[in-house]
Amino acid sequence: MISIVIPCFNEEEALPVYYREMKKVMEEMKEQSFELLFVDDGSADGTLEWMRRMHQEDERCRYLSFSRNFGKEAAIYAGLSKAKGEYVAVMDADLQDPPSLLPEMYRILQEEPYDSVATRRSTRAGEPWLRSKLSGCFYGFVNRISKTQIVSGARDYRLMKRSMVDAILELQEYSRFTKGMFGWVGFRTRWLEFENVERCAGETKWKLGKLFLYALEGIGGFSTAPLFLAPFLGCLLCLAAVATGTVSLIAALAGGGHVQGIVLLAALVLLVGGIQLVCSGISAWYLSRTYLEAKHRPIYILQESSEDKQTRVMLVPVKKESRYETA
Ligand code: UDP
Ligand code: MG
Repeated sequence: MISIVIPCFNEEEALPVYYREMKKVMEEMKEQSFELLFVDDGSADGTLEWMRRMHQEDERCRYLSFSRNFGKEAAIYAGLSKAKGEYVAVMDADLQDPPSLLPEMYRILQEEPYDSVATRRSTRAGEPWLRSKLSGCFYGFVNRISKTQIVSGARDYRLMKRSMVDAILELQEYSRFTKGMFGWVGFRTRWLEFENVERCAGETKWKLGKLFLYALEGIGGFSTAPLFLAPFLGCLLCLAAVATGTVSLIAALAGGGHVQGIVLLAALVLLVGGIQLVCSGISAWYLSRTYLEAKHRPIYILQESSEDKQTRVMLVPVKKESRYETA
């Protein structure tokens, strides 16, 4: 079975159009069974009523409804954890993730050695200029400071095998950035590109401010590099202090005079500031370790082993009390 997880927030206008398109695809792939798992993320319009009605009309339609708006990431997590299929896709409700790609994605997983087929937009045509520039900067920056690759233009739209879905569900962190998680868990991924499609109905739920916070989530979730900005600056200040002191001392010795008080003071201020920042770097180092431990991410994810016939995810059992060093 293929499960499709569809996060929905105030999508009453888009959902009937989406369902019509999905129905065509399910018709085309009729040898496959499907479940459409709609997740109502605290919508205030008729989204939930539509889901209830569709559940009555078409048994392939299931739904979950949140008590309030928890965000797309929470909706994806809920959908993935309740999906029953051997193959699971995540897809937006506004047809910006074309359902027509699904047969090809499924074929690739059947015939080629991949665990997931992901999609990215080849163009950002139709998107506001500022938004696409800022997203370009975000991807450039985050990929520079994080070991996890976060592909520019990547959509959350992808079809995964059960083994990869289970691996994602093992990441129990509260602040979720699914685009990064897909990369973090690994597995063999094939990328498909498509041209940007405009929303079929309704309007985007992502204003610039919300996108900015989302970008911070991505940076904070997959890199501890920003914590080390302070000690880096501290080292620069210490170097500047040593350089200022040395140069003024040499000048004073050469000229036979005294080191000027103001220069000495400047060097001292730089040195004290630098030492403070370097010391805060020691706290940053422990903080980053604690942060990574607190996420309780699996230490590794097995793709295959001679022990199991089936590919599955294995975790190293970790005793909670032994995760932190006591000394
Ligand atoms: N969405 C959600 N919760 C939110 C915001 C968005 O479930 O708080 C859903 C939304 O209904 C849609 C998908 O996430 O199915 C993508 O949202 P949107 O189309 O507004 O984002 P954009 O495509 O403009 O980035
Ligand atoms: Mg959209």
